[in-house]
Amino acid sequence: MTQLRELPVDKITKAIGDLIQESAYALPDDYLAAMRSAQEREASQVGRIMISTLLENSDYAASQQIPTCQDTGMAIVMLEIGQDVHLVGGGLTDAVNAGVRQGYADLRKSVVADPLLRENTADNSPAVLHTDIVPGDRLKITVAMKGFGAELMSRLQMLPANSGSAAVTEFVLETIRAAGPNACPPIIVGVGLGSSFDGVGLLAKKALMRPLGQPSPQPHIAQLEQELLQQVNALGIGPQGFGGSVTALAVHIESFATHIAALPVAVNLNCSAPRRASIIL
Ligand code: SF4
Repeated sequence: MTQLRELPVDKITKAIGDLIQESAYALPDDYLAAMRSAQEREASQVGRIMISTLLENSDYAASQQIPTCQDTGMAIVMLEIGQDVHLVGGGLTDAVNAGVRQGYADLRKSVVADPLLRENTADNSPAVLHTDIVPGDRLKITVAMKGFGAELMSRLQMLPANSGSAAVTEFVLETIRAAGPNACPPIIVGVGLGSSFDGVGLLAKKALMRPLGQPSPQPHIAQLEQELLQQVNALGIGPQGFGGSVTALAVHIESFATHIAALPVAVNLNCSAPRRASIIL
């Protein structure tokens, strides 16, 4: 019989609190490397100045331990839970939200309890929590502090089944054109393809969690990522919307099976403060 590994949920609380603190002040290395390389190829002088200002802002935030952006976002927590892990010592959702409260103790609180009544929860909980059950006895936590300037500009469409990649491309470009400077470019474009209405949005969100510079393992999807990136950058929106050749640093696509009747597509945008961090317990 498989031996279950016990994992006290308070370790999850502490890990999430630490990940939020860490990512509030320091942007991921892969993002910073992509920005430095973008600075070299940006054709517009104003665009280059914008990228350099964003990099300076990020260095200053890390050295002074102040948030990279005034919008410290809403916590998106993704858990990959090994099926041989036995969580002990309390409820998982409670533990996750306790971690969010700890992590955001001295950060701006931006979450309202009810979308219509709009009262602030005053501790930035609850998190948007996604769980996957995977083989093994480990638990991987990924936390994103998702800024809502870019979230607000994200869109989802249930395209007719035989629309093909041309319609997907048009929808992605339309979304980014409409976002203009409001998603705080250079952006990262997460695209979900397939699944169902609920599933395609999550695919797009997962696409944003992939390290920059890592293409899809599926050759036809990797090719579409490259083509989309070129077309997005040809829009000329540029860094912070001042015009230029770097509107996006990457396009990532996650795809899944779908029904014969539809081609679901979701575009989730990430901004120039793409805070995310992971740990394996
Ligand atoms: S979208 Fe991102 S960069 Fe823009 S204000 Fe929000 S968190 Fe900051």
